[in-house]
Amino acid sequence: MNKHRPYTPDPGQMALWPNASGNDINGLGETTFRRPRHVYWSDPDNSTFGAVQKWFYARNSHPDIETQRLARNAIRDVPLPPVAEHPVQKTDAEWTSALKAEALRFGAEDVGVAEMDPDWVYEGWAEPYSHIVVMAIAMDYDTMTQAPEIAAGVEVVRQYARGMKTSKLLSGWLRDQGHDAMPEHGPLAEGFTLVPAALAAGLGELGKHGSIINRKLGSCFRLAAVLCNLPLIPDQPDNFGADDFCARCQLCANACPPEAIGPEKQTVRGATKWYVNFDKCLPFFNETAGCAICITVCPFSRPGVGDNLVAKLARRISG
Ligand code: SF4
Ligand code: SF4
Repeated sequence: MNKHRPYTPDPGQMALWPNASGNDINGLGETTFRRPRHVYWSDPDNSTFGAVQKWFYARNSHPDIETQRLARNAIRDVPLPPVAEHPVQKTDAEWTSALKAEALRFGAEDVGVAEMDPDWVYEGWAEPYSHIVVMAIAMDYDTMTQAPEIAAGVEVVRQYARGMKTSKLLSGWLRDQGHDAMPEHGPLAEGFTLVPAALAAGLGELGKHGSIINRKLGSCFRLAAVLCNLPLIPDQPDNFGADDFCARCQLCANACPPEAIGPEKQTVRGATKWYVNFDKCLPFFNETAGCAICITVCPFSRPGVGDNLVAKLARRISG
């Protein structure tokens, strides 16, 4: 039994729905590669789903969410320090290790490094930096189990703010050492998609619910990053068996109110991967301050359960 089904979208929201499909913008069914296009979390005055995005903010203006948004805006408005004049010299390995250590010290729960890949950059955008440090920012699991209630939405905004702060602190630290660095953080998309960068940086595998499954945090986290031009040593993708597990698990698909999570991988811009139906997910997501049911019911997210699953998959892989 799914207590949120059957789900009928709010007519007020659907009246603002554009004459377009987010799945088309995302490239669902396209068999050749192209760069991604902004579909949501971008400038609402210049995007196809802008009116719907504005409806999301108006709908989810609970005082607890507004408090967290104001806190996040205060962090956003703190200027980055200038890049110091005399760059500190270290080896590539020393910089990689130092940046990871600082990321954890500034509050990230996990961190990885990747070379920037132009394939992640949105059409029409240029990405001037060569490397990316990607950080996982944990959300409080007990709070997230209240999804799709407002408390979970508040926690998401709170952790996005923490991710913003962590990425700005790490950028500032590197700038103080005389090297250019730029923070990247959700929820508003800038020049590129963070999820493939996080996968390349070894932060986990893509799950059936369209989010990353990290071996320590499950899917109960948000992403933040720092871009730089130091020749850091990249991590390898961390394939620990989650993808195979998803092929046999239906928990998120059964829990998703609008049935946006399908049983099979899809072809999206030339790649076969797990994909959440944008047009089905978004109405419920918008009505519930960000939903988050799928990432919370995922067994990898549950403390004590996820760790055991990862250990079990490791035993299976080793033989
Ligand atoms: S976030 Fe979207 S895909 Fe996930 S459970 Fe909610 S509606 Fe379904
Ligand atoms: S709930 Fe199951 S199918 Fe969904 S992402 Fe988690 S492990 Fe994969």
